[in-house]
Amino acid sequence: MGKKYDYLIVGSGLFGAVFAHEARRAGKTCLVVDKRNHRGGNIYCEDVEGIHVHKYGAHIFHTDNKEVWNYVNSFVEFNRYTNSPVARYQDKLYNLPFNMNTFYQLWGVTTPAEAQARIEEQRAEYAHITEPANLEEQALTLCGKDIYEKLIKGYTEKQWGRAATELPAFIIRRLPFRFTFDNNYFNDAYQGIPVGGYNVLIDALLEGVEVRLGTDYFAHKAELDMLAGKVLFTGCIDEFFDYRCGHLEYRSLRFEERRLKVENFQGNAVVNYTERAVPYTRVIEHKHFEYGRQPHTVVTYEYPDSFAPGKEPYYPVNDEKNGRIYEDYRQLALNTPGVLFGGRLGRYTYADMDDTVAAALKLAREIF
Ligand code: FAD
Ligand code: UDP
Repeated sequence: MGKKYDYLIVGSGLFGAVFAHEARRAGKTCLVVDKRNHRGGNIYCEDVEGIHVHKYGAHIFHTDNKEVWNYVNSFVEFNRYTNSPVARYQDKLYNLPFNMNTFYQLWGVTTPAEAQARIEEQRAEYAHITEPANLEEQALTLCGKDIYEKLIKGYTEKQWGRAATELPAFIIRRLPFRFTFDNNYFNDAYQGIPVGGYNVLIDALLEGVEVRLGTDYFAHKAELDMLAGKVLFTGCIDEFFDYRCGHLEYRSLRFEERRLKVENFQGNAVVNYTERAVPYTRVIEHKHFEYGRQPHTVVTYEYPDSFAPGKEPYYPVNDEKNGRIYEDYRQLALNTPGVLFGGRLGRYTYADMDDTVAAALKLAREIF
């Protein structure tokens, strides 16, 4: 007897939603399940009196991939938001990424030649380190003591919960310096926030697709598997295989949200706190992503957190040890007929939204 659906899609995040849309377009029937009580995975926004609050961390869409940009724009219009975070160290503010504004704020230098000379002088102190063994050494040889101590060390140690001397160098191998007065955090050609928030994008992708929320795949696996010919799984791959090759490590986050009776709390969507002594890494003021004019505001304090079962696995820890474990799971996945693995958790990869869309489109194209 034929099954009710062609595909069971576990996870209504961006990967699952793009795949579901493409499957439907190809004439396939899909059932999407998600254990959360909303769609959209980590790009989900909650409407708090007209402000779209990014519930799982700030999300800024940016890409160099024109096809992906055209694809998402076919579902929703994007505004002209350009990410330009401000870093706060003690009581001073610095522009990010490291550019002429930052160099002026750090050293009072006003021309690119002066800035370059100052950075060379700072780096020269660490010229004896020829092969950086850890993140601290890497950062010092790349940008010297001032930038490292004020803008990198504290933030990075909080974010990863480890001393910079215990972190792999590759995390900051590409620290961009810019000798122009340009505070745009990204180098990509396209950037913005969906007008009306990310839910508009997810709802458009999932239009006409059946979605069951509050449904954990593992709690109903036998009955759900009976419903569909094939499964696309976008949850944690180690959980799918019942941790038989070991637990993959993740880094988690904790969010503290506050609604404030002020119109404008910090004047920017993103302010990073780069000092170790401040326990949070950043404060997000959501209305600024969409140029909101509400009389009130909503801010979120973001605290890095260790991961444990029951917490959200926000970041994969892509070091060598986890890379080996993931490789074992990837081999298992290749030998699991009828099940596709996709997305950030299914492939244990730190993929931005544009990479996620591109990967889902690629998979859909291979199949349909
Ligand atoms: P997810 O969004 O995680 O979706 C997976 C879904 O599967 C979830 O809804 C989950 O509930 C569900 N699920 C898992 N297990 C089960 C189960 N057993 N049963 C049922 N459902 C299950 N990208 C950018 O481009 N720009 C940014 O600024 C940016 N900022 C980010 C900030 C943070 C803090 C994080 C963590 C990520 C950020 N990203 C950003 C990356 C972006 O979030 C991802 O690219 C994208 O959301 C991945 O989509 P996904 O569908 O793979 O995963
Ligand atoms: N970083 C830093 N200072 C900052 C912001 C970032 O040192 O003010 C470093 C830190 O090591 C972090 C990495 O850059 O883990 C990437 O940060 P980004 O904000 O670009 O990425 P996200 O955390 O949003 O994935």
